[in-house]
Amino acid sequence: MRPFAYRRATDARAAVASLSEQPNAMYLGGGTNLVDLMRLGVVAPEALVDVTRVASDTVEETAGGGLLIGSGVRNSDLAAHPVVRRRYPMLAQAVLSGASGQIRNMATVGGNLLQRTRCSYFQDVSKPCNKRRPGSGCPAVEGDHRNLAIIGHSAACVATHPSDMAVALAALGTSVHVEGRRGARQVTMPGLHRLPGDEPDRDTVLDPGDLITAVELPALPFAARSRYRKVRDRASFAFAVVSVAAALDVAGGVVRDCRIAFGGLAHVPWRAELAEEALRGSPATAAEFARAADAELARARPLPENGFKVPLTRNVLVRTLTELAETP
Ligand SMILES: Cc1cc2nc3c(=O)[nH]c(=O)nc-3n(C[C@H](O)[C@H](O)[C@H](O)COP(=O)(O)OP(=O)(O)OC[C@H]3O[C@@H](n4cnc5c(N)ncnc54)[C@H](O)[C@@H]3O)c2cc1C
Ligand code: SF4
Repeated sequence: MRPFAYRRATDARAAVASLSEQPNAMYLGGGTNLVDLMRLGVVAPEALVDVTRVASDTVEETAGGGLLIGSGVRNSDLAAHPVVRRRYPMLAQAVLSGASGQIRNMATVGGNLLQRTRCSYFQDVSKPCNKRRPGSGCPAVEGDHRNLAIIGHSAACVATHPSDMAVALAALGTSVHVEGRRGARQVTMPGLHRLPGDEPDRDTVLDPGDLITAVELPALPFAARSRYRKVRDRASFAFAVVSVAAALDVAGGVVRDCRIAFGGLAHVPWRAELAEEALRGSPATAAEFARAADAELARARPLPENGFKVPLTRNVLVRTLTELAETP
């Protein structure tokens, strides 16, 4: 690992100013992804600006009935928070399905959102990779892509976004609070992460030096009936092959409203708007859930080795929605 300076920011403005003055510095949250990437030589910042004491570590109810979650909240605390568990169970389940207890104790909300892809070529500096070194090529297209994207990918990059938490946040429709060089602003999710196109090195719409200060969940009463289901190669400590975050509002056997997002399929947490549209006003039956899945998955363009993700996603969605529909 290359030598680097370490300093602790005192407030959000100072943190942003610090990165403006030293563009090759990076923010440090829990360090559970960034420090690994530094050890592997994937990134080599000159300085780390620790933002764990700048970003709020509280979860507060908002006047509008939502929740404001500081970007410094540790993943374990978020998953255990009683209001999150009661009103947004899919979020607590998504966070708990990721990493291990020790890692969740360190990992922060801000760092979780901005963790980098787990594509093996990205992490191996002896290989070309357009995301790590723009223009060097994408060996995954013809190589190992079993666990990579089936939707929204480009010839330049077929990587998937790794965060489970982000899938639940995209399903809920979350506002991300950002402090940047031009002041504070909000970015909506979905919309924070971007598809690769011909610039796969850019994971998000954030500008260099932008600091995530909080995420704000909307008031969504029917999210109390929600679930996160993750399919992975091992029972724990593994990233999603496919995952589904879903919330369902059913009255008289008919779907009044719903929220659905997929993980493990794309370069972004994939909000399934076509599936949602197909479901609203439909009977809450397995046949309709399958029809909604097909409406969304018609967009899929699987690679030679990952076509299995299409029926897998369909089955996981149908099962998750069926269970939600049967939940009192
Ligand atoms: C073995 C292992 C298994 C894992 N399994 C899973 C899994 O199954 N599912 C899953 O979702 N995750 C998994 N993870 C990833 C883990 O969730 C992330 O490493 C963690 O959430 C990152 O949070 P952090 O605070 O440690 O971020 P850091 O490593 O500190 O930072 C990550 C990135 O975010 C930037 N950053 C940090 N905070 C801010 C901020 N406030 N504003 C702007 N930029 C910021 C950093 O500069 C860096 O680029 C796993 C990790 C490991 C090591
Ligand atoms: S899929 Fe993306 S991250 Fe993986 S090797 Fe190709 S360009 Fe790099």
